[in-house]
Amino acid sequence: MRGAGFKIGRVFGIPIYLHSSWFLIFALITYQFGSEFSSTNPNWTAGQGWSLGLLTSALFFGSVLFHELSHSIVAIRYRLPVSSITLFFFGGVARISREPDRPGQEFLIAAAGPVSSYFLAACFWLLAVYAPQHSMAAELGGQLSWINAMLATFNLVPGFPLDGGRLLRSIIWGITKNYTRATRIAAVGGQIVAYGMMAIGLWIAVQGYLGGRDVIGGLWWVFIGWFLLTVARQSYAQVAARGALEGLRVSDIMTSDMATVQRDISLEEYAREVTRTGRRAHLVMSGNQLVGLMTVEALQSVPREEWPMNSVQAVMLSRDGLPLAAPEDSAVELLERMRSANVDQMAVITGGNIVGMVTRDSISRAVQTRNDVGHLTGSRS
Ligand SMILES: [Zn+2]
Repeated sequence: MRGAGFKIGRVFGIPIYLHSSWFLIFALITYQFGSEFSSTNPNWTAGQGWSLGLLTSALFFGSVLFHELSHSIVAIRYRLPVSSITLFFFGGVARISREPDRPGQEFLIAAAGPVSSYFLAACFWLLAVYAPQHSMAAELGGQLSWINAMLATFNLVPGFPLDGGRLLRSIIWGITKNYTRATRIAAVGGQIVAYGMMAIGLWIAVQGYLGGRDVIGGLWWVFIGWFLLTVARQSYAQVAARGALEGLRVSDIMTSDMATVQRDISLEEYAREVTRTGRRAHLVMSGNQLVGLMTVEALQSVPREEWPMNSVQAVMLSRDGLPLAAPEDSAVELLERMRSANVDQMAVITGGNIVGMVTRDSISRAVQTRNDVGHLTGSRS
C-alpha cells in the first residue's frame, strides 16, 4: 500500500495518512448518521441532524486514530519504530518498521487496539446514559459507543492481518517457537475469514436483491473481504521473504558487477543504455569518481520530450543522499530498512568505496532461489 494516501499531520512524530477511499467513506458515513439522527428526532432542525452527523463522523475518525495510536505507543515502548499510520474506514494500519522480537511483545501490541476501542465504547456509553435523553450528546454517545464496540470486535476476528490474527500468531508463535509457521497459519486464517465475509456479503446482497431490498449492505461485506484478502496475501509474502533471507548477509545478496554511466550523458542516451543492458540502476561516475546513482524511476520522473536536453547528473540521486549499507549487515534488516525508507536500491559501501548494490530485483532473486532450494531439500520450516 505504498503511497496510497494523503498525509494529514503528525502525532508523536508519526506521520498520519488518510487512505484515498476515506473521503468517499466519510461522506457516506456523514450522510448515514445525518439522516438517521434527523429521522429518529423529528423535532430537531435539519441543521441539528446534519451537523451532529458530521461531528459523529469526525469523532469516529478520531476513534480509529486513537485505536492505531494505542498500538503504536506499545510498539514504541518496545523500541519498535512506527513509520506511519494509515486510516481506512473500518480501522487503520500502523506500520511498524520492524517485527517484534518476542511473541509477548506482539501480543500486547495487538491487544492494545481492541482494548482502547472498548475503552472508548465504555466512555461514550457513559455519555449516552448520563446525558439527558434524546439530547444531541446522548445520541452522539450512543452511536459512537456502538461503533467503537463494533470496531474492537471486528478487529478481534482471528485472521491476519487483523488484530485478532496477530493475537493468534503471537500465541502460535509462543507455543511452536516458529515465527514463519505461526504467520502462515494466521495468514491462512485471514484468507478463510476474507472468503467467508465475501460469501456472506454475496448471500446478503442476493437475498436483498430477491426481496426487493437494497444490496449495498451485502456489497460492503464483499468489499471488506476482498480488501482483507489482498492484505493477508501481501503480509504473508513479506514474512515469507523475511524467512527466506534469515541468516544471509548483505554481501550474499548484493550484485557486485555494477554497471556505470558517465554523468554528462543525456537522458536519451541513458534510456538507450537501459534498453540495451536491461539494468534498472547504474552508478554515475565523473571519470573514476563515483558521484551518484541513476535509476529507471528517476528517468521516468522526467517527461520523455525533455530527455535529450537533460543530463543524468541533473536527475540522479547524488552520492550524499544515497541510502547505504555495509556488506556485513543482515539481509533481513536491510529489507526492513529499504521498506521503511521506501527505496528500491541501496549502495553497499566499505571503507568509503562502493563494492556492490542491492536492488529489489536482487532480493527477490535471492528469495526465489532460497525457496526453490528449500523445496528441493524439503527443509522449509
Ligand atoms: Zn488494531
